[in-house]
Amino acid sequence: MIKYADRINSLPPYLFAAIDKAKAEVIKKGVDVINLGIGDPDMPTPPHIVDAMKKSLDNPARHRYPSYEGMLSFRNAAAQWYKKIMNVALNPEDEVLTLIGSKEGIAHIPLAFLNPGDVSLVPDPGYPVYNIGSILASAKPFKMPLLAENEFLPDLDAIPKDIAKKAKLMFLNYPNNPTSATASLKFFEEVVEYAHENDIIVVHDDAYSEMTFDGYKAPSFLNASGARDVGIEMHSLSKTYNMTGWRLGFAVGNKDILEGLGKVKTNVDSGAFESVQEAGIAALTGPQDCVRDMNKMYRQRRDALLTGLSELGLDVKPPKATFYVWAHVNGKASDFSTMLLEKAGIVATPGNGFGEYGEGYVRFALTQSVEKINEAVERMRKLDI
Ligand SMILES: *Cc1c(COP(=O)(O)O)cnc(C)c1O
Repeated sequence: MIKYADRINSLPPYLFAAIDKAKAEVIKKGVDVINLGIGDPDMPTPPHIVDAMKKSLDNPARHRYPSYEGMLSFRNAAAQWYKKIMNVALNPEDEVLTLIGSKEGIAHIPLAFLNPGDVSLVPDPGYPVYNIGSILASAKPFKMPLLAENEFLPDLDAIPKDIAKKAKLMFLNYPNNPTSATASLKFFEEVVEYAHENDIIVVHDDAYSEMTFDGYKAPSFLNASGARDVGIEMHSLSKTYNMTGWRLGFAVGNKDILEGLGKVKTNVDSGAFESVQEAGIAALTGPQDCVRDMNKMYRQRRDALLTGLSELGLDVKPPKATFYVWAHVNGKASDFSTMLLEKAGIVATPGNGFGEYGEGYVRFALTQSVEKINEAVERMRKLDI
């Protein structure tokens, strides 16, 4: 009899199982399903990035074990990008750490800073890895509700004082998955003050910093004064450069925090493939038109989908960032997404899959062509609800 460790048994149930099963059944019936469920860019990695990888592969020096902290040339490229995009100067030697995708950094950081029973503060709804990474470190995640009335920002004053005192780590993510909410620099400054007062390490997941529309520019957490004393920011090339399969990201900010994360990484992984890092250099230092073009495309898709959602009587504000639309629905999220799937062949993710405070919402990912989205809108129009 094979028995899992308690930490595996204590993982939350996989709430997308029901919708996965329903989707498989609808596909089996021959329905042409339009999948607005997954947050994975549908467009290929831009050719200049792919070419850099191909060229790098011919160099045998790149085939060997990489360094744990990443190639200095990649960390330099990340620091230059950061200066240009965020106007923050970083020392590539000790304020930049290469990650095998930001998920890797998020999952590993609790192991560096949380003892069994320690508290981490995690957003709910949220990207599941903040919660699960904490559980795998035998820590106790405390959910910070992201509510519409607070514009999907956590209410720091609502965190009980004893929890704040015990908490060692706080995860944040703006522009946000799944709510597509954004945070102001002022909010980040309040977080810095809170983290100082309560001696909390802040980990800001900035996976969507570049996926913005209508002239909006998302602030970096490190733009807040004093942020570097209390936290780090995780970046990913996945969404910005359509590189989800490549597994490349980086963390920047407080060097002692990065060193702690580096200690875990040194012992569990051997760094990102150097040819992937060279492709990453091409992405970060090369022409950025690809980012602008993708954003233009996502904006068209967003506007097309919003037309459809208003047909369904849903009142959704156009998001300023991310490729998600977070829609409040009547009734239970899973009932709504099941209805969409069974009556219109459209897959959307029920919000409670991202945490209990996601109940009553459905997340649509703009990862289908505008033609497919228009087709989805046509199907929604015919729905009688
Ligand atoms: C996609 C996503 C990530 C994961 O990015 P990788 O770099 O591919 O691991 C991290 N955080 C959020 C919020 C995401 O949506």
